[in-house]
Amino acid sequence: MKKRYLVTAALPYANGPLHIGHLAGAYLPADIYVRYLRLMGKDVVFVCGSDEHGAAITVKARKEGVTPREIVDKYNAILKDTFEKIGIAFDMYHRTSEPIHHETSQGFFRRLNEKGEFIEETTEQYYDEVANQFLADRYIIGTCPVCSNPDAYGDQCEKCGTTLSPTELISPRSTLSGSTPVKRPTQHWFLRLDQHENWLRQWINTGELEGVALHNPNEWKNHVLGQCNSWLEQGLQPRAMTRDLDWGVDVPQELPGSAGKKLYVWLDAPIGYISATRQWALDHGRDWEPYWKSEDTALIHFIGKDNIVFHCLIFPAILKAHGEYILPVNVPANQFMNLEGRKISTSRNWAVWVHEYCQELPGQEDALRYNMVKNMPEQRDSEFTWKGFQETTNTELVNNLANFVNRVLVLTQKYYEDGCAPQFDAARPFKSGWGVETEGNYAAELRRIREHLLEMGREIERFNFREALRLLMEVSSAGNALLQFNEPWRTVKEDPETVRTVLHLGLQYVAALSVAARPFLPFSAERLRKMLALPPLEDQGDLEAMLAVLEKGEPLLPAGHLLGVAGHLFSRIPDEVIAAQMAKLESADAQNAAAAAAAAPKTINYAPMKDIIQFDDFAKMDIRTGKILTAEKMEKSKKLLKLQVDLGFEQRTILSGIAEHFTPEEVLGRQVVVLANLAPRPMMGVESQGMILMAEDQDGKLSFVSPQEGWPSGFGVR
Ligand SMILES: [Zn+2]
Repeated sequence: MKKRYLVTAALPYANGPLHIGHLAGAYLPADIYVRYLRLMGKDVVFVCGSDEHGAAITVKARKEGVTPREIVDKYNAILKDTFEKIGIAFDMYHRTSEPIHHETSQGFFRRLNEKGEFIEETTEQYYDEVANQFLADRYIIGTCPVCSNPDAYGDQCEKCGTTLSPTELISPRSTLSGSTPVKRPTQHWFLRLDQHENWLRQWINTGELEGVALHNPNEWKNHVLGQCNSWLEQGLQPRAMTRDLDWGVDVPQELPGSAGKKLYVWLDAPIGYISATRQWALDHGRDWEPYWKSEDTALIHFIGKDNIVFHCLIFPAILKAHGEYILPVNVPANQFMNLEGRKISTSRNWAVWVHEYCQELPGQEDALRYNMVKNMPEQRDSEFTWKGFQETTNTELVNNLANFVNRVLVLTQKYYEDGCAPQFDAARPFKSGWGVETEGNYAAELRRIREHLLEMGREIERFNFREALRLLMEVSSAGNALLQFNEPWRTVKEDPETVRTVLHLGLQYVAALSVAARPFLPFSAERLRKMLALPPLEDQGDLEAMLAVLEKGEPLLPAGHLLGVAGHLFSRIPDEVIAAQMAKLESADAQNAAAAAAAAPKTINYAPMKDIIQFDDFAKMDIRTGKILTAEKMEKSKKLLKLQVDLGFEQRTILSGIAEHFTPEEVLGRQVVVLANLAPRPMMGVESQGMILMAEDQDGKLSFVSPQEGWPSGFGVR
């Protein structure tokens, strides 16, 4: 067992809000783990913060017409507020734009440079000659060589998911100016990852480094080890740790060639965990170094699967290269959570945004947390559906947990007028809640709760949060069964002694839940404490202390303890709420479809060319300017307008098939072009003496072909 814990959760990128996939992937498991450790009296520091550098920030700023600073300020505030509202209890939520972080990450860079961990290399990179700057991968768009998506980014095609480099794009273009970028030489610092490959392979797979066991690979998730090994099998290559950018941490200015260079965001971001710990220590008068440099510390990174390579290979290589830092004992990355059968997509707004959830379902924060754990993508991708959310909330949280708590408190306050936990006889037999109508024993029942919660804790320590939650809820189910089997509402008159014992025991169940539920349902645990008139938890070994009391078979709430007011722990999710959320997703979908249709290049079908004619053929046509004097609909015809057309030297009656496109009023007085020597043709009893020339597009829309305003009628067109 380690002396202390340093727990990190992936730094969210400060260019957008938080969705449920983020929550279920990294933040909630980290929060549950940390809350549990605190309840067990462990020394733990939990850090996170906004990742505020990199091209994705500058791209977003450009798109919104604001500065990168405005973007990160805006989203940092939203992220911080969202975490607080959904109850993620960081010790420090920091920002990578803080000076202490710039200083820390530059310190790392200097140290690595001094130790010869970098090679400086000049490579050819795309440069925008109009915008006068090198282009970050995200600033280059082109056709994907794999799926032909015309809008693939320089680092990835979002359509087929292929990881790309800008030089692989077909017909690349700059998103800054739209111009075609040119290749120019630029010098960068490359971390020699190839030199770290051997020890990384050994450390990942055996947990050993230089003969010391640092972690147990059997405790690592298979998919994490699998992803690491697939990278290692391909062989690690030197990787550029600097970029040509104008937003980020400067490469230390004393180094030659540093002008205009910033640290690669994946170098600076994980160092953000260290800066956050330093800031926490400063704020609390503590020493940060043991948390990062002592082998007594367990360092654990909670992340989503898309960050595995950075946390299991690149960051450990950086920490080891520095020389003073410990390596993580585990990186329990989760897989992805899908939404209603599809991948969550930020750009397509196919997501449940956590800050919107908190606004739209106030007071239901724990219901979201519960559903996230219930569907946590621990070993494989999982799925969230609103229907499932409703059903789980209504059956498990309302019918099981809330109903149990309410019954115990309401019955106690109904039967015992002083509103206190009743005096009871611990030797009185009753029916146990743990087996079908087996005889209960007060102390044994409490020990049973303890065993269950110990098992729950072991599952949390193994990062099996779904199983841990199931075990917690079994305690609530057993409490419900205790009432169900003993039916105090039926037996209170004939057997008041047993009812006292049963209800007193029921209160102990609730008291146990008010502590043990805290990692998963912190808001509800707090409400339970109030209903029981117990002091708020201190997060310093409360669970550990409670388990010790239960082990002795002693009550958590003594007889005579005055209870608080019973209330509703959870409320039902009505159908309207689910319908409204589904409508929101559908409208996002409709907007996407409309945007896609608007953006799609229209295929134009030009009519094929007719056969070549000689000038003489053309010269045979007598085409003249004219003006429409009168217009009326032809009776019994949908298509024809009957027009009187002035040709200057004479007037003609012309039937024109334009009635479905123009009303008579619209064409009155228009200047037109007329084929004047077309053989007269009788139509519907009227002789048409010529033809008005019209232009027609591929959809069959018509346009008049007119001479310029005021042009006299009767003159030739050639
Ligand atoms: Zn593609």
